[in-house]
Amino acid sequence: MAINTAGKDILIFGIQGAGKGTQGEILAKKFDLVIFETGGALRKIREEDSELGRTVKDIMDRGDLVTNEIVMNIVEDFLEKNKGKRILFDGIPRMMEQKITFDALLQKYGRTVQGIFLTLDEPEAIARMIARGRKDDTEEVIRRRLDNYKKETLPVINEYMSAGVLTEINGKGDIEEIAQNIEKVLS
Ligand code: AMP
Repeated sequence: MAINTAGKDILIFGIQGAGKGTQGEILAKKFDLVIFETGGALRKIREEDSELGRTVKDIMDRGDLVTNEIVMNIVEDFLEKNKGKRILFDGIPRMMEQKITFDALLQKYGRTVQGIFLTLDEPEAIARMIARGRKDDTEEVIRRRLDNYKKETLPVINEYMSAGVLTEINGKGDIEEIAQNIEKVLS
C-alpha cells in the first residue's frame, strides 16, 4: 500500500552498506528533497583545524557515535537554512537519546516524517563496506560501527516501525528495482 508523503520529510534507515546514500539520492531527485547526510556533514567537520574537528575525528576514527549535542547543532542549523523545503534525513537519529531530541526538533519546526528501512544481511553489508573502501572502513572500525548499529540504532528503527513511520524494503538486489519498490511505498 502506498503512503502519501506529500509535504513530509523522508527518513532513510538501514545497516551500513544497505544503500541509504544511493537510494537517498534517487529519491531526492524524484521527490525534490534536499539531503541531510549526517555522516557526510560530520566528515566535513572532522577535516576542520579546530577543537570540534579534532573531537569529531577521534570519535569517528573509533567507529563510535558522535555526541548528541554536536549532531543536534548541525541538524538545527540545517533546519534553519532549509525552511520550506522537504528534507531527506540520512543517518539520523542513530540512538534513542538522539531520537527524542530529533523528534522534538521536528515538532518545533512543524515537520512530519515518513520513511524507509532498507534491510540487508550482515555479511553482505560488511562486503559492501570493504568494497567501497572509505577512510573509516577498516575491519576493526567496521565491526565497532556494526555493534553500535545493533545496540544503538536498531531500537530507534523498531520504535519508528511500531509507530508506522517506517516501511521495510529489501536492500538486496538491483538498484533500479529497489528504487522502484521504494517509490511504490512512498507516493
Ligand atoms: P555514516 O556515513 O552514516 O556511516 O556515518 C559515519 C560516522 O559518522 C559514524 O560512524 C559516526 O561516527 C558518525 N555519525 C553519523 N551519523 C551520526 C549520528 N546521527 N549520530 C552520531 N554520530 C553519527
